[in-house]
Amino acid sequence: MTTKDQNQFDVLIVGAGMVGATLACLLAEAPVKVGLLDKTPLKPDGIPEPFDARVSALTLASRKLFNDLGLWQHIEAVRGCDYQDMHVWDADGTGSIHFSSSEIGEPALGTIVENGIVLAALHQRLQTIANLEILPPESVDSLLSLDDEAGKRISVATNTGQQLTTRLLVAADGGNSKIRELAQFKTREWEYGHQAIVTTVRTEKPHQMTAWQRFMDTGPLAFLPLQSDSITDEQHFSSIVWSTLPDQAAALMELSDAAFCKALSEAFEATLGPVESCAKRFSFPLRQRHAIDYVQPGIALIGDAAHTIHPLAGQGVNLGLLDAAALANELSRGLASGRAPGDITLLKRYQRARSGHNLSMMWLMEGFKHLFAGQALSVRWLRNLGLHSVDSMPVVKNQLARKAMGLDYTG
Ligand SMILES: Cc1cc2nc3c(=O)[nH]c(=O)nc-3n(C[C@H](O)[C@H](O)[C@H](O)COP(=O)(O)OP(=O)(O)OC[C@H]3O[C@@H](n4cnc5c(N)ncnc54)[C@H](O)[C@@H]3O)c2cc1C
Repeated sequence: MTTKDQNQFDVLIVGAGMVGATLACLLAEAPVKVGLLDKTPLKPDGIPEPFDARVSALTLASRKLFNDLGLWQHIEAVRGCDYQDMHVWDADGTGSIHFSSSEIGEPALGTIVENGIVLAALHQRLQTIANLEILPPESVDSLLSLDDEAGKRISVATNTGQQLTTRLLVAADGGNSKIRELAQFKTREWEYGHQAIVTTVRTEKPHQMTAWQRFMDTGPLAFLPLQSDSITDEQHFSSIVWSTLPDQAAALMELSDAAFCKALSEAFEATLGPVESCAKRFSFPLRQRHAIDYVQPGIALIGDAAHTIHPLAGQGVNLGLLDAAALANELSRGLASGRAPGDITLLKRYQRARSGHNLSMMWLMEGFKHLFAGQALSVRWLRNLGLHSVDSMPVVKNQLARKAMGLDYTG
């Protein structure tokens, strides 16, 4: 095989994060040569020592996807915390809402898993896939389209000048997607003016396998339960996501651990008793972004490259995983009927399957965010009324829960 052949693919996935790596696994049986490129090395052995600061609340739909890939048992065997209840309440009023898995007849509302554990399971699987070539870590720097005898192909050049050619280029390169920028996809963006602080904390009281979320005028604060794999199996560790204004976030990042724990306990109304300790803190800017189109001939955006969403409902990666499943599905249908992987008709089917669903979830989160950030008395009154009313309307509440769990998506 010449170097030229080696650098030619039917599908080139850029980005081996949770979404890109899942797509590569889903294409394992497809009759295509797949390349996978990430600027950082894969981490098949990278299981984080308790705990990874980045966690995801995986919905039942995402769990099913990993289960179908035979990966869920590996993920669960390391660590994952099923949560049966979710309490959401309003800092200013008396509004609150409680979701329970028993009310919708499911064993859990979802599972909190550390991103590093999911990535390790995916990256281990990638090593075993016959039709996949994992390229050495390099970043995509430029993009050029070219036509050749075999039809339209896309070429990318990496930071070392290496040229890779593909019939379908999949951008799974995250929220600041270079490919989205190079291919001039248009996006709609909403600046949240929010910064999220994430870390792992230990609380005096156990988390009760419950996800907790308190809405303040400055933004939501979430405590997500973590499964300890210690012998005592104690339930005192939670991952927190504190979304707040940039000035406050900067001040919180400056605090000593003890002062941060005190501020966090107060903001959380010491619901699980005092916060006793915290791990290293990380801070991320939050912005909601949605690509107007996910596809153009020979190119598809998936995951955060197509949409980034406020983490308040923990939906980001779940939506991305459904993108990966929908694209794999349309590719297999299209290939079976003789279409090329980059065929725009095939790609548009993928876009139709995902864009509306992603957008509706983003509007739901946007609505929540504005409702809780509103200062006006009428908005406060409405949101308290809203929380009470929704809490006392099991049908509406359970439909909301099913949507958030990905159970409404038939894609
Ligand atoms: C604070 C916070 C909390 C969150 N909590 C949740 C949650 O509870 N539940 C949930 O579902 N989601 C959550 N999210 C969102 C979730 O983390 C993202 O939706 C998810 O990580 C997106 O996965 P991805 O694979 O699309 O992108 P990424 O994870 O960003 O992966 C992109 C990959 O592309 C690679 N890459 C980038 N540029 C290039 C390039 N030019 N060339 C080669 N490789 C490149 C990167 O190295 C990376 O590996 C949260 C997000 C934040 C910020």
